[in-house]
Amino acid sequence: MDNRVNSELIRVESLTKIYHLGEVKVVALRGVSFEVKGGDFLAIMGPSGSGKSTLMNIIGCLDRPTSGQYLLEGTEVSKLDKKQLAYIRNKKIGFVFQMFNLLPRTTAMENVELPLLYSNVPTKKRNRLAEESLALVGLAGRKMHYTHQLSGGEQQRVAIARALVNNPSIILADEPTGNVDSQSGAEIMEIFEKLNNEKKITIILVTHDLEISKFAKKMILFRDGEIVKREIIKD
Ligand code: ADP
Ligand code: MG
Repeated sequence: MDNRVNSELIRVESLTKIYHLGEVKVVALRGVSFEVKGGDFLAIMGPSGSGKSTLMNIIGCLDRPTSGQYLLEGTEVSKLDKKQLAYIRNKKIGFVFQMFNLLPRTTAMENVELPLLYSNVPTKKRNRLAEESLALVGLAGRKMHYTHQLSGGEQQRVAIARALVNNPSIILADEPTGNVDSQSGAEIMEIFEKLNNEKKITIILVTHDLEISKFAKKMILFRDGEIVKREIIKD
């Protein structure tokens, strides 16, 4: 996967997802189709329960749809085996979550190095890459801070540095500003904007905040598991 701008990166066609909870059937996605090109910055909006996280989990290869197609760079994801999916999750996609998900009692550096440990990168290179990633999010001066010594906004920036450390071509961020104050939220969005503009990383961001969505280039609006609106915010 590369960062070629404007080539088709993601295409989903008639995606559905049904959760079965005993007798209860929850239809989370009811036929969702859209395309994401390399270099896009897409905001997915919609009220709570409209299926945004369900869609992100499928795009991130963390879950499978009930029906429909998901093509990642032209490859049908349902045809990939566990090993190939794990490779995509580790190397191609960076994840950022609402709750930061950093390890406690661990420094910023160690948190960022974690994805590199899984791929057996030698210590020196690990340190260098983690430092570069932390510098990209403006936290070079916080590398030895433990998780609890960082503000919420800083923790989220460490999480972004961790998502970046394997040089992904896509970042998936599910409500990344949902647990930080508005000033930190704006700083986080400026980082995403820079990664998109300068590094050509494709960004898919879930938010219910209109101000946050304005940082994106395109927007799709969800309601009850369906896309009800598509908008180009800027080119
Ligand atoms: P959003 O992220 O837009 O708030 P979700 O994708 O989390 O929405 O949820 C969409 C719908 O699917 C909701 O009605 C939710 O209760 C249901 N849902 C989500 N995850 C599960 C699950 N693992 N099992 C059962 N139902 C789920
Ligand atoms: Mg959600």
